Amino acid sequence: MTALPAVRRRLSPRLTGLGRTDHVALTFDDGPDPASTPQFLAELDRLGWKATFFMLGSMARRAGSLAAEVAAAGHEVAVHGDVHLSQVWRSPSAVIDDARRARDTLAELTGTTPRWMRPPYGTLSGAGPEAARRAGLELVLWTAWGRDWRAEATPQSVVDDVGTDMVPGGTVLLHDSDCTSAPGAWRSALGALPGLGQVWADQGWTVGPLWDHGLRPGPGGEGSSSGIRRRRGAAPGPGSHPAAGGGPTL
Ligand SMILES: [Zn+2]
Repeated sequence: MTALPAVRRRLSPRLTGLGRTDHVALTFDDGPDPASTPQFLAELDRLGWKATFFMLGSMARRAGSLAAEVAAAGHEVAVHGDVHLSQVWRSPSAVIDDARRARDTLAELTGTTPRWMRPPYGTLSGAGPEAARRAGLELVLWTAWGRDWRAEATPQSVVDDVGTDMVPGGTVLLHDSDCTSAPGAWRSALGALPGLGQVWADQGWTVGPLWDHGLRPGPGGEGSSSGIRRRRGAAPGPGSHPAAGGGPTL
């Protein structure tokens, strides 16, 4: 296993999703889920936002029309993985096969080939970058998260948690499904969207998907956000990701 902080240093800031400083990349993991994703689509439509949905191939196959609906609504579909397993516990060939299978599933269901990949838990094994490369996918993790997977999360706690680590040009991680979270936890993310919109509007930031975030392509992708100053310390995410057991279910 490659230590993730080392990977991040090599790939950041693109890996942590730092793009143009007047823009928030809004991303959702773990769907599509018939129990919750349609409500996110309705709220995003009401807010006039497009977002990026990092889908699981296994979820999409159970709700193929929903995956297509997300894409047809103008949102971006990306790869979270085929199944929600950390790469750390899988063989290199399984990691490579998983990325390819998820990509093929989502491409078939949505008619669009995904560009980005964010592996479950934000953990990359040594085979992770190679799996993404072979599948033609670019790795993107996140800048700020809402800790919306917790049973005790509320819309206000999600707004607060995102704000703790958010910086100009950040990529925000939320979840549109509770398939790996506390039952109903997605409601905290859904309920947080108007409040987040208010905070971001006050900053003068617009909201959109990763494809419109100004991330530079190519190995490393360095340089797209040079000059960005972090408000405090390094971005959260894989480097500070709690260990398994009571940790987040990203
Ligand atoms: Zn996840």
